Amino acid sequence: MFEDNMKNNFGCMVFGDVVMKERLPKDTYEALRKTIANGTHLELNVANVVANAMKNWAMEKGATHFTHWFQPMTGITAEKHDSFLAPDGNGKVITEFSGKSLVRGEPDASSFPSGGLRATFEARGYTAWDPTSYAFIKDKTLCIPTAFCSYSGEALDKKTPLLRSMQAVNTHALRILRLFGNTEVKRVVSSVGAEQEYFLIDKEVFKKRPDLLYCGRTLFGARPPKGQEMEDHYFGVIKNRVSKYMHDLDEELWKLGILAKTKHNEVAPSQHELAPIYNEANIATDHNQLVMEMMKTIASRHNLACLLHEKPFAGVNGSGKHNNWSLTTDTGINLFEPGDTPHENAQFLLFLVAVIKAVDEYQDILRVSVASAGNDHRLGANEAPPAIVSVFLGDELTEILNAIENDTLYTCKGKVLMEIGATVLPHFPKDTTDRNRTSPFAFTGNKFEFRMPGSSFSIAGPNIVLNTIVADVLCEFANILEKSSNFKEDLIKIIKETIKKHKRIIFNGNGYDEAWVQEAEKRGLSNLKTTPDALPAFVSEKSINLFTKHRVFSRQEVCSRYEILLENYSKTINIEALTMLDMVKKYVIPAVICYEKELAELLSSKKVLGKAVSTVLEEHLLDKLSTLAESLFTRLEKLEKQVLSVRSIKGKLEHARASHDLVLAAMNELRETVDELETIVSKKHWTLPTYAEILYSVID
Ligand code: ADP
Ligand code: MG
Repeated sequence: MFEDNMKNNFGCMVFGDVVMKERLPKDTYEALRKTIANGTHLELNVANVVANAMKNWAMEKGATHFTHWFQPMTGITAEKHDSFLAPDGNGKVITEFSGKSLVRGEPDASSFPSGGLRATFEARGYTAWDPTSYAFIKDKTLCIPTAFCSYSGEALDKKTPLLRSMQAVNTHALRILRLFGNTEVKRVVSSVGAEQEYFLIDKEVFKKRPDLLYCGRTLFGARPPKGQEMEDHYFGVIKNRVSKYMHDLDEELWKLGILAKTKHNEVAPSQHELAPIYNEANIATDHNQLVMEMMKTIASRHNLACLLHEKPFAGVNGSGKHNNWSLTTDTGINLFEPGDTPHENAQFLLFLVAVIKAVDEYQDILRVSVASAGNDHRLGANEAPPAIVSVFLGDELTEILNAIENDTLYTCKGKVLMEIGATVLPHFPKDTTDRNRTSPFAFTGNKFEFRMPGSSFSIAGPNIVLNTIVADVLCEFANILEKSSNFKEDLIKIIKETIKKHKRIIFNGNGYDEAWVQEAEKRGLSNLKTTPDALPAFVSEKSINLFTKHRVFSRQEVCSRYEILLENYSKTINIEALTMLDMVKKYVIPAVICYEKELAELLSSKKVLGKAVSTVLEEHLLDKLSTLAESLFTRLEKLEKQVLSVRSIKGKLEHARASHDLVLAAMNELRETVDELETIVSKKHWTLPTYAEILYSVID
């Protein structure tokens, strides 16, 4: 019974394939399927029929409105609701949803960031349905996943370039497959599974912290007596309240056709993770946006708050989003699955070395795709991959590559598994990778796990980059091999040369180790620690050539995105600094003053009693308090000064750099003093919830 319920409810809010087949006339259904499969144009007469069927279906499910649901460059989703009601001309109303409204919308979206793009063209953009991602109902509204463009065709969103990058990798992966004699495969798609980490805390506690409210992270907080050092939370028993939340979340996600699969507690107290079953990259991206939104909405229902920031608490693990990525054919073959025959393995090795080369050549662009003010606190902290990009392959696969490079015999556990000569390619057993959790980019048996994206990110960015850089290398390989008169020989040559040239990016050791930072430097790998350090690579000629060549971004689109990223960075730091100043003035200073006053009064009343009573404690505390109070004042003034000083900086990059070097630095200093004060000021006066109170706010 329960099982039937689960099955019936799955996807019940999605206008998916089964509903389409059921509700659309056969020829309309076929036309729509063709559009979905080939990305062809949808005729208006077909769209009219689809729209009407969608409307009827949605209204039966209680929907009253529809919206074009899109992903502007803010990184979150946007929607503007229109009701299905329309005047009938006789003073009454009818319900209406036309094909035109389905395929195209014109939101008045002039306040979305465009990095100057729209200003130079049209003031308004338009949204266009992405029929490869199904429409769904959320909050009584029929949501139509759409792309968002300017009238002259510039992408103003994250979906458009993602779709373009999927097209690029499809084109060049197909060329390679044809070279291996495969004529069946029609389409190669990038598959993505995004594991989502998050914190769950009590809503009442959340509301008492302006920093969490405005910035998503705590700007102060002394270390709690118990943090994550016991490692008793990871995979621990899930608390009752959290468990109810997770059930509720799963159910809502299932209704939206999102296959939320695993859930568990993470390392830090009150930190959890949700992983869905993987899907095509654009659908996985849409779904991940919905997962994040639902996590927040449902938390609120349970009087909880869900934190998606990369580093809500200093000294406690941050949250990431592991982006599992692979390439799959429409015939169901995973191209990163090592095969059983030498022929299959040769193909696998070519795709594998293509990724290795892509990651090595474009390490800086991958780094750009995970750069943000929030993620800067996480990358390089001791629980997250460093800002250095490297690839984990596992010992066995690394040895196989070594053997290929050096023309030596590959042996495993004392047994010679194969001969690796000029003509024989290895045949190796599956599932030999061990798990290295410290690697930023790990091969995990049949997919790559990119662990650098931050928990609040849209995964569009990282996947746009992954698809494009791999497409670029596959294109280069295909150009050589298509002209080759001896395919096998040239294939081996490419594999060998690629290993030789790009093996520096392979690292199987502990990525959190300080020694790796030095070793990486010796290898010439880049270590772009902050967002302002990382972003300029995005507008380098190499990057612009890459993206324009594969028609993923135009030069202008790259430049506008670069500007938006820089602006976001500076704005985030400015908001944090202002919040900090406000909190110090409204909470910290009054607390310190009250406590000082209390102590001073006590001290003077004790002094009246003469030498018989000791005042050592009061004097000591007062002394310490006033020293810290002085430092508090100096550092507060300094931060105020720095906030003002960076305002006049004109260049966006210079502004971002100064925000980091001056404002963030002053914030760190101020925080140090506040955190020390927190440890001595009485609880009566310290009204902000402490780390312990926040992290252990969900009790049972
Ligand atoms: P971990 O051990 O990293 O915590 P999980 O099981 O939590 O692993 O998550 C693994 C994720 O990888 C899931 O979202 C899963 O669907 C996804 N995944 C599995 N195979 C592929 C694939 N071929 N391509 C992309 N993602 C995949
Ligand atoms: Mg993982």
